[in-house]
Amino acid sequence: MAAKRDYYEVLGVQKGASADEIKKAYRKLAIKYHPDRNPGDKEAEEKFKEATEAYEVLSDEKKRPLYDQYGFAGLDGGGGFGGGGFSGSHAFHDFSDLFGGMGGGFSDIFEGIFGGSRSSSRSRNPNAPEQGQSLRYDLDISFKDAVYGTKAEIKFSHNEACSDCHGSGAAAGGSRKTCSACGGSGQIRRQAGFFAVQQTCPTCRGAGTVIDKPCAACRGSGVQEKSKRVTLSIPAGVDDGKRIAIHGEGDAGKNGGPAGDLIVVLHVEPHTYFERSGQDLYCAVPVTMVQAALGETIFITTLDGKKIEFKLPAGTQNGKLLRIKNEGVPVFNTTRKGDLYIKILVQVPSRLSSKQKELLEEFSRLDNASTSPNPVPLSSLNG
Ligand SMILES: [Zn+2]
Ligand SMILES: [Zn+2]
Repeated sequence: MAAKRDYYEVLGVQKGASADEIKKAYRKLAIKYHPDRNPGDKEAEEKFKEATEAYEVLSDEKKRPLYDQYGFAGLDGGGGFGGGGFSGSHAFHDFSDLFGGMGGGFSDIFEGIFGGSRSSSRSRNPNAPEQGQSLRYDLDISFKDAVYGTKAEIKFSHNEACSDCHGSGAAAGGSRKTCSACGGSGQIRRQAGFFAVQQTCPTCRGAGTVIDKPCAACRGSGVQEKSKRVTLSIPAGVDDGKRIAIHGEGDAGKNGGPAGDLIVVLHVEPHTYFERSGQDLYCAVPVTMVQAALGETIFITTLDGKKIEFKLPAGTQNGKLLRIKNEGVPVFNTTRKGDLYIKILVQVPSRLSSKQKELLEEFSRLDNASTSPNPVPLSSLNG
């Protein structure tokens, strides 16, 4: 498959373009490259499809941020267009909105290009190749693994082509024969009172053919449920809800069609000490009131267990949020990293030795602290 163009480039808009700008840009391209105006022009048709795919993602408030952050990898199944299975089935719901007031004709054409193969799949030839079902697998991963990446072995079951009959459903010496109940049409007529009703043939289930000697291993279905193990590489920087598609590991296709995909949905477990917001990490660090007042070099343990030196400034207030650059979450598919924020919790000693008490009383005399302080806004606590 050729390299895909960036969706913003396809539509010719800036990365920060508003929903309205995106809609306008797409409308312009859709009209220009519309197959109705460019009959038989393959290039125009490709351009039209490319623009439609870009619009489908950038007009979707869930998909657009995924695409912005992770590129094509952030989209279901890598953003494939019309690949069947997972994405795309709902993609064209707002065409009437987009082309409202343009007169008829458009909806027919969209049916022809996009809807056709999908919407008529029920009534089409039951022996035609059909892609297998895509399967979902929910995988829990630790907070740390989501940040630094990991490999996970996943075990799942899917339908594979039967190894005894290679998917044909027929035993050795058996074959597909025209169904005698319906004469191969897959439909039978049944008299119901005054009416003749057309019905799917129950003998061949609409296929028009039956297997005279069904394979014993799969009972003629051509598929067998098999459990499988796959080692999945989870890249650094993934977030909760990220989907990773493993192509061809879904259920086997029918009549020689391709297998579906296995879609792994990641669930990131919370961490005891660290929280994440986008690419930044947050944690709280307790220090003594003396460290906070005088300033001191302290050592912060990062998420990966390494100790980093940090200069706590003199006069640091309780609740102060301090930033350590580049100790956050790797930005997916880049060498960049977010930052680590530490919230300083100043601890007041609850037990004092007599010597400490003496020194603090001495300190207080020098400090001239007021015994009737004025109130301050609550928000000033978060230095
Ligand atoms: Zn079989
Ligand atoms: Zn039949």
